[in-house]
Amino acid sequence: MSSYGFLDKMLSKFKHVLRLMRIQKPISKLLGPVFCRSRESIEIDITYDCNLYCVNCNRSCRQAPDATHMTVSQIEKFIQESIQNEILWKKIRLTGGEPTLHPNLLEIIDRLTEYKRKHSRELKIQIITNNWGQKIKAVLQALPQEIEIPNRSKDSPLPHFYDFNMAPRDSFLFSFSDYMNGCQNIEICGMGLTPYGYYPCAISGAIDRVLGLDLGRKALPSRSDDMKDLL
Ligand code: SF4
Repeated sequence: MSSYGFLDKMLSKFKHVLRLMRIQKPISKLLGPVFCRSRESIEIDITYDCNLYCVNCNRSCRQAPDATHMTVSQIEKFIQESIQNEILWKKIRLTGGEPTLHPNLLEIIDRLTEYKRKHSRELKIQIITNNWGQKIKAVLQALPQEIEIPNRSKDSPLPHFYDFNMAPRDSFLFSFSDYMNGCQNIEICGMGLTPYGYYPCAISGAIDRVLGLDLGRKALPSRSDDMKDLL
């Protein structure tokens, strides 16, 4: 290994230790949480149906396959709550599962683009797809131009995902961590909406789907709600 490679490795280990210290309970109590759930971006898991069964799928589509879809009226309720709460979303991502397998996808997109035209013109509407197979590609082709598809060029059906099926609390390293710190997903990807309600991120909603605790908020949380109990 070159000396540059060695230094790089040491630096990354050092950063890892610093991050680990930062999320320990006493330090988090003193400095507050590292991440805060988004008020501008949201990921909506419109279906848990998927044509792939990736290892480490963070919606557990491999271990707990399920064809539950969100209904169009649930999307309408979300739009009404956003208008009433004067939330001007900057990014709404349709995710899953594989969102193009939702039987009413075009209707959902219709409602969201109407909301964008009337209430939130800066809004980006994105669809996160695995882009795998002719059926999926045909649905993507039929989507209106204004729908962004960030991962359209994805070409491998089984990418390498980080470990998802080990709970941090089962590792000694995270035994004294304060989970209210969340992770960067709650800011970058945004909060989550699933068929079961609102969550700090869509991944936590998918975990709740498998555990069956039904912890999601049943109405859009107020701005002051950091959803720490769910973290
Ligand atoms: S394509 Fe996405 S949702 Fe489907 S199994 Fe793979 S990671 Fe999960």
